This record gives sequence, structure tokens and C-alpha cells, in this order.
Amino acid sequence: MSRERCNLCGSYSTEVVGRVSRYLLPLETVMCTTCGLVFSNPVPDPKTLERFYSRRYRFLYQGVFARSPPRRHIRRRRRAARKAFDFLGDRLPTGGPSILEIGCGSGEFLALCRERELNAVGIEPGRDYARHARDSLGLTVHTTTLDAYEPGSKTVALVVMMEVLEHLKDPSAALSKVNRMLIPGGRIFVTVPNVLNTELPPISRFHFAHIFNFSPRTLEMMMQKAGFEPVDQKRRSTVNLFEKVRSPSDEVGIDGDAVAELRSFFAEHTGKKYVFSWPTYRRFLLNLLRLARDHG
Ligand SMILES: [Zn+2]
Repeated sequence: MSRERCNLCGSYSTEVVGRVSRYLLPLETVMCTTCGLVFSNPVPDPKTLERFYSRRYRFLYQGVFARSPPRRHIRRRRRAARKAFDFLGDRLPTGGPSILEIGCGSGEFLALCRERELNAVGIEPGRDYARHARDSLGLTVHTTTLDAYEPGSKTVALVVMMEVLEHLKDPSAALSKVNRMLIPGGRIFVTVPNVLNTELPPISRFHFAHIFNFSPRTLEMMMQKAGFEPVDQKRRSTVNLFEKVRSPSDEVGIDGDAVAELRSFFAEHTGKKYVFSWPTYRRFLLNLLRLARDHG
């Protein structure tokens, strides 16, 4: 049993799947035994989270000391933004209805939208990053959270949420709000880290800043609860385009395989097995290459 109610199905029935976070700090992580959602237990209180995101997030989480984003960070974000553009292609809305990026960081995706003359705005709770996007790039970015944000009128055709949902205290409520913001048939491009990632060392699997850890199945269940159906998915991953097809509801269609899939993954991918596996060395070499490219 957990102290927290499962954000997806409402159950309190859980089992512990982790006791420490990256950097070996204590962090209990549980899996809902009804639907398979994996989350921190307890979830940090709202004040702690707000303080964390408004000032300390970039410093602690990404190891950034400067008040503006370093070049390394910007290059990485640009690569992610271009990948998102390639994936979305001609599905990016042109003309009147707009694109809203929630958690736009330093604005790399929005800058690409502007290059294509697409109508896009962003919201970002991190003050320094929002300021950079506005002052250095001249983008329309509001320093605010999704909770506090109200778009002027209902003209959002595409919401973009890249690596955001896992940080939110109530992702179901956030997605319901996104549903209400979108025009009929509006879409959401959503990416989250995949908890079933076999390349990540098990010790790095859980992080204080990631309250929720999704598998492709649990993400899809949560999206469906919020009134979305899948349009396209990058391979079998947590990079997805969904479409608004109905209003949010409290009903959850449980994917019967979600819990078993996660249980067998956690049993299979232990720290010991990771250390002695070929993908570990492959990943190490790829990281070296990436470092060389970032600093080249
Ligand atoms: Zn659940």
C-alpha cells in the first residue's frame, strides 16, 4: 500500500520497485499493481516542487551554474527540437490555430516554429530559461506553470510537451486541462523517458525530479483517460502523437499486460546484469562520441 493514490487508476495497491534515486539519495518508487503506473512515494509537496523548479531545477538536475543556458545544453535541445520537427512533419498546424509548447525551456522548438512562420507560443516555469527565450531569441514565452496558465481563446491546435509530464504532480489533471484547451480534433505531441529503457543503468532509473515513470502502455492509458487516442508512435516508445477524440473521464481502460511487462523488466534488468552486459559498453562509447560532438 502506498501513501499516494495512483494518478492513473486511483488505487492504493502498490509494490516497491526502487529505494534510491540517481546519485544514491533515498527515494521510494512504487508501481501500482492495478495499472502499472510507476511513481515516487510520497510525491513531494507542491511548495517544495515549485521552489525546486523556479530556481534550483537547472542547477541541481542538469548541473548548470550559469543563469543562462550553456551552449552544450542548447545544442542538445536543438537536436531534440529537430527530431520532433522531423517526426511531426506536415502535421504541424499552419495558419490560424496555434501551437502551444508547455515547458518550452530555452525555446529551441519555438525558434524552429518561427523559422517556418508557424504561430507558436510557450510557457516555462524556470525564470532564467523563459527570460532567455524571450530576450535572446525574441520568442513569445510566458513565465508560468500549466496550472496557472489560461490561453486567451480556444485556438490551440497542437500542444507540445517534451519531457514534461513525468515532472508534474498531477499529470492526469494536466492532460485534462490540455484537452480542454485544444480545438476539436486538436493534437498533442508528448515525449517522456521510457521506464523500460534497457540502455539506462538501473541505478539511474529513478530521479527526484521525475515523479512518474511511464512505459508506453501506461502513457497510452493515461492519454486515453484524458480523452486522447494515438495517431502515431515512434517505434515502440514513449514518443507519441495523440488526438483529442472526446472529453476527459475518470474511466481507465486497464491494459492487462502493463503490470506483468514492468515486473519482468525490473526482474530482468538489475544492476548486476547491467554492469556485465554489452549494451553498457556500447552506451559508454556512444556517450564518448556525443561528448566529442558537443565540445567539438
Ligand atoms: Zn494505477
